[in-house]
Amino acid sequence: MSTPIGNAVVGVVLPVVVFGIVIYSWYIYIFRLCYAHLLDTNKAEAVAFMVIGTFFMVITLISYLRVLFSYPGKAIHATPLSLSTPSTFPRFYYSPRLLDPKTMCRQKHDVEEATETTSLLPVVSISKNDGLPRYCDTCQCFKPDRTHHCKECNACILKMDHHCPWISGCVGHKNYKFFFLFVLYCAIYALWVFCTSIPTVVEAMNEPDATLDPQWIVLLVLSFVFGMTLWGFAAVHGYYIINNQTTIEHISQRPNEVRIDFDISGHNFEIVTTHHDDNLWDLGHSRNWRSVMGSNPFGWFLPIYGGLGDGCVFPYNDSLYENIIERAKRQRMMLNPPTSQAF
Ligand SMILES: [Zn+2]
Ligand SMILES: [Zn+2]
Repeated sequence: MSTPIGNAVVGVVLPVVVFGIVIYSWYIYIFRLCYAHLLDTNKAEAVAFMVIGTFFMVITLISYLRVLFSYPGKAIHATPLSLSTPSTFPRFYYSPRLLDPKTMCRQKHDVEEATETTSLLPVVSISKNDGLPRYCDTCQCFKPDRTHHCKECNACILKMDHHCPWISGCVGHKNYKFFFLFVLYCAIYALWVFCTSIPTVVEAMNEPDATLDPQWIVLLVLSFVFGMTLWGFAAVHGYYIINNQTTIEHISQRPNEVRIDFDISGHNFEIVTTHHDDNLWDLGHSRNWRSVMGSNPFGWFLPIYGGLGDGCVFPYNDSLYENIIERAKRQRMMLNPPTSQAF
């Protein structure tokens, strides 16, 4: 069902299904199990179960709403590609002094505007095989590193992770944290409901006089199936976050072509091919985590803000960056007489 009408129907139906399952399971857990059954026998336990279960249900739905109503980030500055463009200098590029390491945002100076450009050069960017900047013909825009075009959304998505029908859109730079928190909290909610319901259900099944509400079985099945699935997802995305990879980057078997510009003319560059296992944006587990979850630990598990940076430029791994520059210089030395070189 990949027609626009089909996508629109799926985009409405699946969020309704998610809301329906979460709220229905909460109704069974709170009203038919905790309130109608446990409250009479153990009041303190029943109240604690209801408060904790409701908390995880609410934060799950808030995270879900944040994913639904946050745009993942779209590549902007639509620029029709013109053959008369005098320079092919990349629009998006990285050098270590270009980004503030704390905020991962671009410093005020761009390499074209900086008075002292030598401290910023050389700059690197992912390019096509021939060294031309990555360009999307559909959106008519230059694609920053890690941006991919999504056919379902018909847009170029910054740091695209994957297209998710359950949120009726893409998971990308600006909503990835909310997506992760939704999956994580939903998994915790399901586990909590399953673990606290099962003693009551087992007791009711073993005692001939006890009443067994058939909806308790529905609750157990739902919480077990969704819990197992979502814990798997949460673990996978937790792994991606601390390794600074997207789903697309993790499964990709294609090497990256990195373009190294030695000046801003747009003609003085080399192309270096990296191995597909090279994780170009790996900053170490702690900085990788902060780049997605935010710099303030008090906000890591709250769906209040997204990842650091603008989603257009990402800091490269220091040693891979140095290695790429060295290889580019060596490539240049081999192609040109050493005496005529000046970087
Ligand atoms: Zn596009
Ligand atoms: Zn999409």
